[in-house]
Amino acid sequence: MIKIPCHCGNIIESDMNTEIDLASTPEIYARIIDGTFMTFSCPQCGNELKTEVELHLFDKGEDFDIQFLPELERANFLSGGITATSKRIAIGYNELVEKTIIAGTKLDDRIIEIIKFRMLEKADKDNLSITFNSVEGSDLVFHIAGLKPDQIGISHIPMSVYQNLENKIDELLVDDDIKLFTDGPYVSVSRVYLED
Ligand SMILES: [Zn+2]
Repeated sequence: MIKIPCHCGNIIESDMNTEIDLASTPEIYARIIDGTFMTFSCPQCGNELKTEVELHLFDKGEDFDIQFLPELERANFLSGGITATSKRIAIGYNELVEKTIIAGTKLDDRIIEIIKFRMLEKADKDNLSITFNSVEGSDLVFHIAGLKPDQIGISHIPMSVYQNLENKIDELLVDDDIKLFTDGPYVSVSRVYLED
């Protein structure tokens, strides 16, 4: 049972399953991406409440196996307080959306994170956050937050950049700078570049 306190004082109780088999509930993919997943409406005041609950999302046919942790558990996970039990970890809703989009494109999330790492290195600016958004034609589209207040920058990276990295992935994955964010189930450049 999940309990979500509403602003009106009501406590919403949900029997949401925390083991989610996406093969039998494929509509969850779309709900994660459109932002309605883990949103509950309060029967007392009608408010829509977004919450984050630790979940296991998997789809064996699609090789999707993600342990979702609420953003509030980030420090606890990074300091070793939570054991990884899935192939991948996503912390906070935005990371879950990004991992779901990447899974849908069949791209390798480690290569996506290496591209983000290179972009962050080049940008040489604090508090940037780069998120993979989509494939458009032969480009990978990334959204960049933190360049200007309240604005999202958009960066197109040619697929050839991805393919070049893919060709030397074995070499890259033993590189000390890259291992810092690709080793283990939490594949995320935020392990190196964490926004405030
Ligand atoms: Zn309410």
